[in-house]
Amino acid sequence: MSTLTFIGNDSGFGEKNNSAYFEKDNELFIIDCGSTVFYEIKNKFDFNIYKSINVIITHLHNDHAGSLSQFILYMWFVFKKKVNVICNCIHIKEYLDITGTPPESYVIKDKLDNLKFIKTEHTDFLDSYGFIMDINNKKILYTGDTANLNSFRSYLNNINELYIDLSKFGGAHIKVDDVLDILKDLKDKNIQVIPMHMDDKEYITKLIKRL
Ligand SMILES: [Zn+2]
Ligand SMILES: [Zn+2]
Repeated sequence: MSTLTFIGNDSGFGEKNNSAYFEKDNELFIIDCGSTVFYEIKNKFDFNIYKSINVIITHLHNDHAGSLSQFILYMWFVFKKKVNVICNCIHIKEYLDITGTPPESYVIKDKLDNLKFIKTEHTDFLDSYGFIMDINNKKILYTGDTANLNSFRSYLNNINELYIDLSKFGGAHIKVDDVLDILKDLKDKNIQVIPMHMDDKEYITKLIKRL
């Protein structure tokens, strides 16, 4: 069992945007809130039971933040709850402003005690982050969208679970064939490798299973 549960793990043009969640001490944490995510989560959770609702945003591409404002508005007007937006992106406030999100309906936090953002190399057009986080005695590394593992190298051997952006074709995402040796080494060290943001699930999961 992995610590995070996926709401979707498709790549940017897929049917279910890459997003995951976990619960901790009566708090709900959702990781990314792309265009398709609002409709996935709207009826999935009983939002009344949580003492706080948190959304970690890795970057502002639509498949990661496209329904963030909608979700915040829904929480605010239907449940009277403020959403904590955990995000390092330089334009997050501007993004919520231009999408008409009332300032009183959310709080932006650029860090959490148990979470450290790590900037990735994804695209020249916006800043993008992965993070390392301690959840229920597990150390997880979540790459977010990234073209490579460069920013994560010093953390890789000291984790329990790796959630990694993998692509058949590469480009702005990690080309799976390029990292098979690294992933094999991590698996041999009992680190759980969980592929995500997949453009070809059959191709990628077959390779990961074989490691
Ligand atoms: Zn993406
Ligand atoms: Zn992206």
